[in-house]
Amino acid sequence: MAGKGNDSPAIGIGLGTTYSCVAVWKHNRIEIIPNDQGNRTTPSCVAFADKERLIGDGANNQQAMNPANTIFDAKRLIGRRFSDSQVQEDIKLWPFKVIKGDSDTPKVVVTYKGEKKEFLAEQVSSMILGKMKEIAEAFLGKEAKDAVITVPAYFNDSQRQTTKDAGTIAGLNVIRMINEPTAAAIAYGLDNKSHIVGKINALVFDLGGGTFDVSLMTIEEGGIFEVKAVAGDTHLGGEDFDSRMVDHCVLEFKRRWNKDLTGSQRALGRLRFACEKAKRILSCSNQTSIELDGLYEGIDFSMKFTRAKFEELNMDLFKKCIKTLETCLNDAKMAKSCVDQVILVGGSTRIPKVQLMLQEYFDGKELCKSVNPDEAVAYGAAVMASKLSGNTEKSVQDVVLHDVTPLSLGVDVKGHIFSVVIPRNTQIPTSKSQIYVTASDNQSEAEIVVYQGERSKCIENHLLGKFTVSGIPPAPKGVSKIMIYFEIDANDILTVTASIISTGKIEKLTITNAMGRLSKEEIEKMVHDAEKYKLEDQEFKKKAEAHNALEDWVYNMNNKLEERSVKKSMHHEILQVMKKAIDETTKWPEDNQAASFAELHSKKIDISG
Ligand code: AMP
Repeated sequence: MAGKGNDSPAIGIGLGTTYSCVAVWKHNRIEIIPNDQGNRTTPSCVAFADKERLIGDGANNQQAMNPANTIFDAKRLIGRRFSDSQVQEDIKLWPFKVIKGDSDTPKVVVTYKGEKKEFLAEQVSSMILGKMKEIAEAFLGKEAKDAVITVPAYFNDSQRQTTKDAGTIAGLNVIRMINEPTAAAIAYGLDNKSHIVGKINALVFDLGGGTFDVSLMTIEEGGIFEVKAVAGDTHLGGEDFDSRMVDHCVLEFKRRWNKDLTGSQRALGRLRFACEKAKRILSCSNQTSIELDGLYEGIDFSMKFTRAKFEELNMDLFKKCIKTLETCLNDAKMAKSCVDQVILVGGSTRIPKVQLMLQEYFDGKELCKSVNPDEAVAYGAAVMASKLSGNTEKSVQDVVLHDVTPLSLGVDVKGHIFSVVIPRNTQIPTSKSQIYVTASDNQSEAEIVVYQGERSKCIENHLLGKFTVSGIPPAPKGVSKIMIYFEIDANDILTVTASIISTGKIEKLTITNAMGRLSKEEIEKMVHDAEKYKLEDQEFKKKAEAHNALEDWVYNMNNKLEERSVKKSMHHEILQVMKKAIDETTKWPEDNQAASFAELHSKKIDISG
């Protein structure tokens, strides 16, 4: 529930792989909040430098100079294991270091202020969320506490839980997590209220920087959004298209100069940055070029890139999107001709080939491009945030959301077979129970292993957690019964309870922590650390400002002393003393790099006083 006594409105945050966006209900409408640079989206990027930590545009802008300590793509790591094959593939391409932490959790390693530091993906995401919180606070003029955060529809339980933890670490009270395509559909629904008559079938095609989601839903006049089916790939998006371009350039460089530039993180980082820029240009022109001076071992690199080449390099990925779309329609048992609207969301839907393939699939249907792909998700999240915190405006109060769970949930039964308790695309919140019997004579305990996925063999699915039920009374096999109860809340987060029912005695155990997740104490420690980093950032900013103030003062004083009238009116000796004092003050910050804000400030008072 929204926090009590906080008169600040709840905010909506679209936490994207590459960009994030924050919005709020103000002046009777949703406002997308610009950041300190005036941009409506903020790069989901954190950089650690010798002297400071940068988040957003500042981090992104210095990426090419400091690739090993500039972290992006945290969303591709969150809730995943280090040994996950996709994580292993990504690590090969990232210019920053990722190591294996406890319970197979990945950790990024950076050098910050000359020291090695390790961070979990949720800590990096929390820094981005903290930045979005600050952006909102600057706009609102008060603390922003309650928030709705979006996640890809196809995120599994552990990815959702960990994203929620990231919110907590950032000091947010996460009142709800909603699926990105659903949030976008809310934005579409509210924007097109007058065009929606009765009930329409809408397909949201959401292709972002790192994830791909498709959701089939009905939108009812008045604001009822009911998801029928979702499908997707939490590892498919713009960054993969960039990677294909990078690989192609690396090969070309090798062909021309017989040198492998992949050994240089800096060269790889610069190349990736240039490829992403070229990719965007190729969405509106047929050709562009990549020009990088002294890319590797002093060699300048220049290469033409055509739209046709870009499409050829990525065709299999584009086809994968269409295949996923078909799965979604099949799951919802809906013919493509019944889809009334195809809504494009996510920056990568600007790619002309993606639009063309989609349009061809729907037999030439006009696609809906009116939703701003970068902002729609935050817009929808802000509507939900406003509704949950009690906004009485009718269009907001009338919004009703029925979402579904994207992946089947179940337990491991004899032979490591996956026994589904809640099938995928079941509407949430929901609860279901199933009864299992003991597998051997006098079995006194049973291990409940919970998985999520669509494969029949357990090990091929995603392990969510396990726990043991003990105290089963002695009995021949197949006699004692255990009831397993699955409950999914409105955030699509699962709780599993098991009870022994053979003697009427009920014993309950609940999974509170998915495997590899943080304990309450660990989260508290991270909240504390996040606060510490924030204070350090503030101290740095204050120090930089004090430094500038001192420099400004010296500069102005120097100019003043150079003025003829001042020179004339001042005694020569006093003039010399003042010049000396100014020279010393000019040098002072250079010789005292470690000076604190207080020292810089008092230096200015000393000299100006
Ligand atoms: P999102 O996660 O929705 O913010 O999408 C970000 C992704 O969209 C990034 O991979 C961008 O490179 C990509 N993107 C943004 N604009 C364009 C464009 N004009 N053409 C192709 N890709 C784009």
